[in-house]
Amino acid sequence: MTDNEPGGQGHEVNKEKGIEIMTVAEAERRGRPYMEAIVSERNDFKRRYRESLQDRAEKLGEVEKLRELEQQVAEIRALLLARTGPNPTQLQIEWAQNEVRSELLKLAHGARAFTRHHRVPPFRVGGAMLALRKVNEADGNPWVIIFDANTKLNEQHEATPDGVKCCAEQNLMYRITEPTNPGETGIYRVLSIAVVGEPRADDVSGMLHGTLTPCAECRDRLVYDPKLTGKAGIISLQTEIVTQSADDVDLNRVDEVEHLHGMHGEKREDD
Ligand SMILES: [Zn+2]
Repeated sequence: MTDNEPGGQGHEVNKEKGIEIMTVAEAERRGRPYMEAIVSERNDFKRRYRESLQDRAEKLGEVEKLRELEQQVAEIRALLLARTGPNPTQLQIEWAQNEVRSELLKLAHGARAFTRHHRVPPFRVGGAMLALRKVNEADGNPWVIIFDANTKLNEQHEATPDGVKCCAEQNLMYRITEPTNPGETGIYRVLSIAVVGEPRADDVSGMLHGTLTPCAECRDRLVYDPKLTGKAGIISLQTEIVTQSADDVDLNRVDEVEHLHGMHGEKREDD
């Protein structure tokens, strides 16, 4: 994105690979708000470059690490269920969010093992998410914890400089919109997303926040993805984004989705 300002009618707003350049007027002709149209198009394009965690773990020789993190997730979920039962109240939800924040950061840190990125060493970003899902007969536990990492792969799933960037946050969001595992279906509310990476200046705004906070593409998806936000209600403006520096666990911050654009000097469509 070179221009995040909605309403920039008539000029080029998007030069990303695989994403059609669209004006606000064109988006309106297609019957969608501009940012929703851009985010949907970007999601459709990037999905082809996704690779499952299992496939990545095998290619990277990290299957043991994957099982270790899955075991940690199973333990945290069991603990939460024991405390809240299958129908947590709002108070219990808030308790759970506070209770697992540091565990989510540890999982996000561990998930950096599943990055696939061409650089040596790779630019590693891990993510972990706490969410609620509808319970069913097979699994009466409403608590979901998912971890993932960033990838930059080409269509042959090789990590190359011309691969397509898929951030840890984006890979997490695809796990909701296009689940590949029955344990990740039916998610109706995301409470927290934790992200751990090396802090660096934002590609678009140039701003540095002490931790690696969501990039422009992720900021937009967190606010405008019609499958997740708005009426879908899965990610809200109050969803918590917890970030930590991979180099210094004492460098942390917690931001609500509502504030991500403003932190980068950007306006949202509804501002
Ligand atoms: Zn991103």
